[in-house]
Amino acid sequence: MKTDLFINNEWRPALSGKRFPVVNPATEEVIADVAAGDAADIDNAVAAARGCFESAAWRDLSARKRGRLLTKAADLLESRLEEFARLETAHNGKTLFESKIELGMTVSTLRYYGGWADKITGETLPVEGPFFTYTLREPIGVVGAIVPWNFPLNIASWKFAPALAAGCTVVLKPASETPLTALAFAELVLEVGFPAGAFNVVPGGGTTAGAALVRHPDVDKISFTGSTEVGRHIMKLAADTNKRVTLELGGKSPNIIFADADLKAAVRGAQTGIFYGKGEVCAAGSRLLVERAVHDQVVAQLAEGAKKLTPGDPLDKNTRLGALVSKRQQETVLSYIQKGLDEGAQLVAGGKAVKPNGKGYYVEATVFDRVEPGMTIAREEIFGPVLAVLSFDDFDHGVKLANQTMYGLAAGIWTKDILKAQRAARAIRAGTVWINSYNSYDSGAPFGGFKASGFGRDLGREALDGYLETKTVWVGL
Ligand code: NAD
Repeated sequence: MKTDLFINNEWRPALSGKRFPVVNPATEEVIADVAAGDAADIDNAVAAARGCFESAAWRDLSARKRGRLLTKAADLLESRLEEFARLETAHNGKTLFESKIELGMTVSTLRYYGGWADKITGETLPVEGPFFTYTLREPIGVVGAIVPWNFPLNIASWKFAPALAAGCTVVLKPASETPLTALAFAELVLEVGFPAGAFNVVPGGGTTAGAALVRHPDVDKISFTGSTEVGRHIMKLAADTNKRVTLELGGKSPNIIFADADLKAAVRGAQTGIFYGKGEVCAAGSRLLVERAVHDQVVAQLAEGAKKLTPGDPLDKNTRLGALVSKRQQETVLSYIQKGLDEGAQLVAGGKAVKPNGKGYYVEATVFDRVEPGMTIAREEIFGPVLAVLSFDDFDHGVKLANQTMYGLAAGIWTKDILKAQRAARAIRAGTVWINSYNSYDSGAPFGGFKASGFGRDLGREALDGYLETKTVWVGL
């Protein structure tokens, strides 16, 4: 596969000649050696994206044709879904089962925004006086997309698909751990026939390539998904050039089980909420809040379920818990498990690193009970398969605990009382609330955070707004 930088529809080595290894976290083997872009390469990529944005090749391409390019890319990706899913599993460690779901979502996102391209319209405005006044919706310009390693191609598509649909051009900086599917997608872009410079991929470090993209005066917008800490830093850096910024950041999402819930469904939802994607999911339901009356029953079922969820070869079609993305992430997760033990939480399942085939950075499905709100594992994002269970006495106490976090990305509510569910959904400060469900996504449903989980939205019609400027035109009559 191609492992150079993709700039202006060409494959180029980094100007510095530097490369970096990509490791398969399930086998610990180096599987690729990728060009490491830095500021000089970002300059070239931004120049290509700017050149394309200003060019007739892009400007004269009708919105419908732009949309058609996106839907063609969707068709091509769909026809190669298995190959892309295997690649996603190879650099990320997630199960093939999960990679196929992720790539299916990517296809759907490309199609969804392909459909939007020719439906972006302004308004006519009934102003006072002898004027005909209307708005135009125009593309922001060059977009820098900086993405994490947990859903590598899917989260990238949440940015580049609406950006391209809106008429922007894109420089994508994938995470250093997982640049391979973005590069493979660039091959599809060539095949589909996007004009040179519309879509560029520059793998490289966050503090080198990533920071250069944020600082670049010719980039109009940064769309970032990643940690809250890096998001804050990006916001400060972007201020110097008045860039528009969208931030999708971390979470510590509450998943609330009321005593009147369908407990079988709720326990299943709690498990997929934390163990899907090895818990390396921004919206993971990592704080399970259980009403005291059903606490013992729920915890017993959860512990039993977690013990059955053994980590294994992610390419095996029956595996449901893959390898963590890297040794570093495994160490981080293990250090949080140790903190949980040190601070007095009760470990009821998992807790250890394992190597199913003698290799790999795996951590068992882990459940801590008797977690108090002040404990580190109740407050900080772990980004691994570690669940913290807290108990609550009544509705108000449950909602109070749910909101007792600096984050506000998502929440789950399990109850058969639909009015209670609606009251809780209103009271919880989070960008997504799932009632009797968890981890449901759709290209048409906006996703993003309240509070320290960021601002702006990916997906849905709202994401398009992040790539558009509004121009008001006054015609004197
Ligand atoms: P990260 O913040 O370390 O890195 C994200 C991206 O930013 C990477 O491409 C990285 O190279 C780049 N980066 C790092 N430092 C940078 C800098 N100084 N300037 C510019 N770019 C820089 O995050 P991660 O470890 O890759 O991903 C995990 C985090 O992402 C978690 O906190 C998770 O919650 C969050 N996340 C959020 C969402 C969401 O939609 N809210 C989705 C997925 C992941």
